[in-house]
Order: sequence, then C-alpha cells, then structure tokens
Amino acid sequence: MINSNTRNHFKALKSGKVYLDTAATSLTPDIVVDKMAEYYNEYPSNVHRGNYAWGDVATTEYEGTRDKIRTWCNADNYEIVFTSGATFSSNLIYYNLHNLGIKKSIVSLNDHHANIVPYRLHNNEVEQIEIPDNGVFNEEELFKFGSLDAHMLHISGVFNATGQILDIEKITHRAKDLGAIVALDMSQHMSHDSLDADKVNADFYYWSSHKHYGPTGTGILLIKKSIADQIQPLIGGGAQVSNVTENKTEYWDMPLKLEAGTPNIAGVIGTGASIDFMQEIGMDVIHTHTQNLLGMVIKELKERKIPIICEDLPLEQRGGLVSFTIPGQHSYDVSVALGLKDIYVRSGKLCAHPVVNKLSDTGFIRVSVGVNNNEVDVARFLGALDQVLTYG
Ligand code: PMP
Repeated sequence: MINSNTRNHFKALKSGKVYLDTAATSLTPDIVVDKMAEYYNEYPSNVHRGNYAWGDVATTEYEGTRDKIRTWCNADNYEIVFTSGATFSSNLIYYNLHNLGIKKSIVSLNDHHANIVPYRLHNNEVEQIEIPDNGVFNEEELFKFGSLDAHMLHISGVFNATGQILDIEKITHRAKDLGAIVALDMSQHMSHDSLDADKVNADFYYWSSHKHYGPTGTGILLIKKSIADQIQPLIGGGAQVSNVTENKTEYWDMPLKLEAGTPNIAGVIGTGASIDFMQEIGMDVIHTHTQNLLGMVIKELKERKIPIICEDLPLEQRGGLVSFTIPGQHSYDVSVALGLKDIYVRSGKLCAHPVVNKLSDTGFIRVSVGVNNNEVDVARFLGALDQVLTYG
C-alpha cells in the first residue's frame, strides 16, 4: 500500500519540496540510507578478500543483493554483474560486439545518449532508426532489415525523453527469431514495473539502481549465461583474477570476471535494500499508483491545451513520465520558475539530444512520478504551473 507512511520514508521530503524527477534519479528511502550506514558503521570492509568477520558479513550482504535481483527479475538464466551504472554497462556491451560476432547494431535515435554515444566511441557499425515526426517510435522499424544474423538490437524498454514504453517481450522474441542478440536498457522501467528476464529472454538487460530508490553509482547488468563466456572485461585489475603470472592473466568465472577493483560495496548493499523497499510495497501497487498520478498530470495538461510530446500515446504505453513544452517559454525558464516554488521537474535535452531537438526548439519539460508522490504533489505542481502560464 502507498500512503503517507510511504512518504515518511523519504527524509528529503521533510523540506516540503515536490519532487517530480524520479526519471533522472529517484529519492532514496531511509531503509536504503540506513542499510548503507549499517555497512559503513558495522562491517566496513572489502568483499571477497578479508578473512575476518567484517569481510564475511560484507561479502554475504553484497552477494545477497545478487540473489535478490535474481529472484526479483526471475533471472535464473542470467549472470548478474554489478557495474557503476547503465552507461558503463552499455559501453561494456558495445566493447564486446566483436567477441559476440556482431557486425551491426540496430538502434533508435529516440534513445538516451547512453545508447548512442558508445557505438560511436567504439566505432561500431549501426543502423540508426530515425525519429518519426510525431516522436512515437514504430516498433516495426526494427524489423525492416530482414534477417538479423550477426546483428544486435540495442534499445530502451522505456524512452527517457518521450516516456514511450516498448513491448520488449514481443520485440525480443521476434528479433531473436531473426537471429539477433538483444540488449535492453531497463533504466526507465525498473522503478514502476516488474521484469521477468527469463520470459522476455533478452541477452542483456541493464539499468542503474538510482532509478529505483537505490544509491547512485551502482549498475546492474544481466548477461544470458549462454553467451556470458564470450564477454571480456572492459577494465582490468584486482579481484577479477584467479592467477596472474609474469605474462599471463587468468580470470575468475562470471560474474567476478567483470567486477575488477573494489566495487561500490555500499551501493550494492543499498541496492538490495531498495529492492526490499519496492517489494514490500508491491510492484503492482507501485505501477498502479504511478500510472494514476501520471494520468492525472496528463489530463490536466491536456485541459490547459499544453503541447504534450507524443500526445496521442495512450497512458498504458507511457512509463512513469510525460514531457511537454510551453509555447513562447524556454523549458529552462519554466523549470527554474517551478523550482523557485519548490516544484522540481527536469527540463532541457534530457541526455537525448536527437529526439528533443527534433520535437522542440526550446527543450522538453519533463514530469516523472514515483512512490514518493501523491495527489497533493500533482495539485501543487499544477498550481505553480498555472502561475507560470499566467505570469511567465
Ligand atoms: N538509459 C536511460 C534510458 C536513462 O534514462 C539513463 C539515465 N537518465 C541512463 C541510461 C544512464 O544512466 P546512468 O547515468 O545512471 O548511467
């Protein structure tokens, strides 16, 4: 259940702010902050190293998060790797295309920079799917190339700028039938929807835990066990190796092979607590709550005749966020004006320059909702927005 007690988990809200930017970074509930403090206060040591009690507890807690993710996402067929975030995971995948026998990737320019810049950095060959005039991505476009042998389809489950949800299960099954490897960026999905990894059957899933009430600097990457042996580390160092001689390096098996150096231990342990937090509430409850709030926001924006990005997209195809513009006002000015009234929304190009530039001259204003929001937040946002509309 989500009620005023849920909000009490977020100390940051005591300042009276209305936080409508979960899509950028969700707020951190006290259970997550407390769990990280527990690590630093009670067993502050490295993992997989120290042969003493603190080290054992830290390792058990760290590995416990891996188990929680496996259950939470029904990911029995996946290796679960901790990274620094979605951006790192996307880069790791592009770095490994050659090892996977991939010659070309299929990507969308509707997507986040984390799924555009890496293939340019690593000089991978791609087919970039253009942004449609109305911004609504047509999944059929992914399949216009015929056979997808030696191809990777790399795309977000929910686009962070337009909020459009893609049918990842349908896309993945079809792409794999055509021979593709499928990598799904789940960053905008995990805070308000469940994931059945085995059922969707993609080859990679990744996201950052700060998008689902977890700490910053911690990413989760699922790699299908059947291809995991082909994946090589992007960075090298301690902890990932079983034997290093004068001229040879042997790695541990997955997932440690990809976790070089001291990981973000507190972040991983805090991630476990964020999963507990969401599961305690219930993913279905979270989904219904965020969809209801989003529906309210969209209805009110429409009543005010405010241009909504991908206006015709039904609520069921929107993942926790809506973007809009206000004619005659720059998105930056609107968000600053709202911020001065304690209403925190995101504005600008949202790390998705191609799609934002295509659909607006002044950047998007983006409202995204989480379990920390309620109807009062929506009313306060609308009250402040009305003032901005009236007085500029
Ligand atoms: N992909 C998507 C869809 C995102 O929304 C974001 C964060 N805005 C990222 C990737 C990058 O996440 P991070 O900055 O935590 O690596």
